[in-house]
Amino acid sequence: MGWNPIRKDVAVFPVSPHMQDYEATCAGFSWEDVRRELAGLPGGAGLNIAHEAVDRHAAGALRDRLAMRWLGKNGAVRDFTYGDLARESSRFASVLKGLGIAQGDRVFALAGRIPELYLAALGTLKNGSVFCPLFSAFGPEPIRQRLERGDGRVLVTTVRLYEKKIAQLLNTLPQLNRVLLTDAAEDLSDSVLSLPRLMATAASDFTIPPTDPEDMALLHFTSGTTGMPKGAVHVHDAVLTHFTTGRYVLDFHPDDIFWCTADPGWVTGTSYGIIAPLVHGITSIIDEADFDAERWYRILEKQRVTVWYTAPTAVRMLMRAAIEPRRQFDLSALRLIHSVGEPLNPEAVVWGAQTLGLPIHDNWWQTETGGIMIANYAALEIRPGSMGRPLPGIEAAVVRRGGEGGVELAGTDEDGELALRSGWPSMFRGYLHDEERYRKCFAGGWYLTGDLARRDRDGWFWFVGRADDIIKTAGHMVGPFEVESVLMEYPAVAEAGVIGVPEPIIGEIVKAFIVLKDGFEGTEALRLELIGFGRSKLGSAVAPKEIVFLDTLPKTRSGKIMRRLLKARELGLPEGDTSTLESA
Ligand code: AMP
Repeated sequence: MGWNPIRKDVAVFPVSPHMQDYEATCAGFSWEDVRRELAGLPGGAGLNIAHEAVDRHAAGALRDRLAMRWLGKNGAVRDFTYGDLARESSRFASVLKGLGIAQGDRVFALAGRIPELYLAALGTLKNGSVFCPLFSAFGPEPIRQRLERGDGRVLVTTVRLYEKKIAQLLNTLPQLNRVLLTDAAEDLSDSVLSLPRLMATAASDFTIPPTDPEDMALLHFTSGTTGMPKGAVHVHDAVLTHFTTGRYVLDFHPDDIFWCTADPGWVTGTSYGIIAPLVHGITSIIDEADFDAERWYRILEKQRVTVWYTAPTAVRMLMRAAIEPRRQFDLSALRLIHSVGEPLNPEAVVWGAQTLGLPIHDNWWQTETGGIMIANYAALEIRPGSMGRPLPGIEAAVVRRGGEGGVELAGTDEDGELALRSGWPSMFRGYLHDEERYRKCFAGGWYLTGDLARRDRDGWFWFVGRADDIIKTAGHMVGPFEVESVLMEYPAVAEAGVIGVPEPIIGEIVKAFIVLKDGFEGTEALRLELIGFGRSKLGSAVAPKEIVFLDTLPKTRSGKIMRRLLKARELGLPEGDTSTLESA
């Protein structure tokens, strides 16, 4: 669509990409071959992500290799070799075991990007427990819902977050057995404990118990359009996808220094911010600080980052910064740039090529898929604006619901729902406690993603939009229902409808339309109070940024708020089919 393809000349690449011929790689690919490349637990005791990521390297030639370099927001640096990571994560596993936390028990984390979070993730997996990260910008309400729904037994957090968000929830969460504070010198009570104190006396060797590849390993919450957040269940077998995408998409080579800017509160920050680079035995950079254009370029320069995985919102913020990256910084180590999470505008792909000297490789996946599914690859042509082509081992299609077996294939260049042939290793195995919702995601052997897409005649996939009302703001998924439910708790609110309104940098902003109860007036003071109420309950990542008052909301005859219509009216677009509108 007006954008020329970007072709690569592999001859000038500093290292030879793992995949050079897409068709041949796909044809020769099998998940069983990948399984054979992984170590498996000693003595045939199964497959455990933490063993593949840490212990097998620590027991071999990579013991002293730098696994993680943590950059503190105030300038501190902490390095962890594979040997260090193995020891410290074992200590955490010993702490859990000592507290009676069993295989399958859920261990939640609520923290920024601090080293303890990474040790807790790996230690939890070693203990055979299930790691469930929460985004630290969530407010108390999203945190409570997830801890409750996920049956959280343990929560790892900081003193500050505990005091601000958790202490007030404790008596509503009876199954939450222990809170472990990463920065408390002393225990606060019998159940709110100092993690440093426990770690100091915990054993630094730990034998991972037998782990079945199908045992639950990770629980990632994602938002739905209706109902409360869904807990997507992932198993240890997912490490096959992490390994494969590390090889073919991120193109990891042994000397790579990789920086994934995603927060581990979301699936990208776990699958690629923790697991995939470690499984490949390379070095990861972790930056504690929030986005800052100059800081980011300095990190790329000083840490000699070779492979960089970031997100469209960040790329767009870099595009806006008054910095000439290649004149002001030495980015010569950088070899590959990838992006995920929202549509990446073709301008951004080309900006990368012109301004950073490297195009940005878009890829697509979601919480439910556990790993990258559709991608642009190092050696292959990029069609700016396209998500790329399916990973070897993944069959993708554009389908329509209906027809035989529940779906029929859409034609070339026709819009439809993006579907993946079910059964890849990192496919989610369920929504926790919601079998019905899980079942509804599948038809005719396909997993239906909820995204609309198009496939061109050469097999490149193009993102069209969401098939539902989910909002993506700064790369974070927000379920309108969650926001509406909280706004409705405010005494003056009778009804709330929440939509995403396009915004050039962060993709969409959360906007709420409110109908007030009789006797209340939609004043500016009330509007500001509601915005404050939303923030205090939901946190800055989820709360609406804009609120307007309306006399009525468009609803179906069965009383469901028609967010689609709210959006069309907000954007001045045609209202489409309004036959189900209450007053139509
Ligand atoms: P999450 O489950 O929070 O990772 O969000 C997944 C959703 O983000 C997908 O279903 C898409 O709607 C969107 N998304 C992810 N990657 C891309 C991409 N490369 N282009 C467009 N949308 C994307």
